[in-house]
Amino acid sequence: MAHIASRLKEVKMEEIQDITSDMIDKLRKLNINSVYQLAVQIPSELAFEISDSSIDIESAARLVGNARKILTENDLLSKEFSTANDMLEKRNEISRYSTGSSNFDTFLDGGFQTQAVTEIAGEFGSGKSQICQTLCAAAITLMENDRLVENATQKPTESIIFIDTENTFKANRIHQIAEQKDLDPEDILKRIYHCNIYSSEQLEVLIDELPKFIEQYNARIVIIDSIISLHRAEFSGRGTLVERQQKLGRMLNKLRRYAEVYNVAVVITNQVVSYSDGTSGLDYMKAAGGNIVAHGSTYRIFLRKSGKNRVATMEDSPCQPYQRVKFAISESGIQDVSSYKTEESESAW
Ligand code: ADP
Ligand code: MG
Repeated sequence: MAHIASRLKEVKMEEIQDITSDMIDKLRKLNINSVYQLAVQIPSELAFEISDSSIDIESAARLVGNARKILTENDLLSKEFSTANDMLEKRNEISRYSTGSSNFDTFLDGGFQTQAVTEIAGEFGSGKSQICQTLCAAAITLMENDRLVENATQKPTESIIFIDTENTFKANRIHQIAEQKDLDPEDILKRIYHCNIYSSEQLEVLIDELPKFIEQYNARIVIIDSIISLHRAEFSGRGTLVERQQKLGRMLNKLRRYAEVYNVAVVITNQVVSYSDGTSGLDYMKAAGGNIVAHGSTYRIFLRKSGKNRVATMEDSPCQPYQRVKFAISESGIQDVSSYKTEESESAW
């Protein structure tokens, strides 16, 4: 497939319909430097940021629309309305990044998918971070190395952006997984751009600026482990719930746009909350963040421990039936549980 990076900067801001050089200057001041970066903006926010009489929400929406239009015309973005056949072609552009556990990959219909936000929710120790780190090691091998494009300039190597809000990313763990899989750990580690985040505000700012880094690092996967922990910690009271949900919604809205426009796979982890079933009095776990996160992600995976193994359930998918898979965590990351179906009865799930 034609990766986005080979197309970057092929369309210039000046080529956007009706754009003035004055507007381009204003956008540059806001650090919006490419057609892609404009195409992912939320019009009301853009109008607010520019905050002068030259632009209202409608004209900001037109501007973002024109940026999307020029990408569409150049086949860099799928059309707002497209025939089913076009959509099938677009689906062919989707890349899938496998984890190295073949059952888990089958469960994901081939792997973590670009143009989608995949959420992994589960309680502490259920394997969320292990999946993210295994993905780092396994996915790099599916990415392109430095290569020459038409004008003979070297494009950056494809890479992964890892945003760590819980300080649990371990380079030596990825090194171990890579070694176990007979991969080159040094090459893999060089291509993971890791960032520690300590406050909800810092996370929001980074997500706003992510397009710049996706372009700069030629990222194909963006991992956020976890999307919610900082917001949960900082907005804990009832009175702040609305604000927290708005902030979460805004981040997810942006991530969905990035996934689509940049054709990247966005993987986020989520915590769980317990709730009691009023009638039975039993306590259950569900993903945190309520409807905002539920509707913000394309795929929702729920993890739980099952003895020494883990079970992943696909809770929401646009194209797959409800299903689940069992996996184990070992030195080589997440891996298949051998012949689990014959070994254990259905009740053992
Ligand atoms: P979380 O869902 O909280 O992110 P993790 O992904 O960090 O959970 O999973 C932690 C679990 O992974 C540990 O409890 C342990 O069972 C397992 N684990 C981590 N590293 C290894 C390893 N090298 N070998 C085997 N199991 C491991
Ligand atoms: Mg974790």
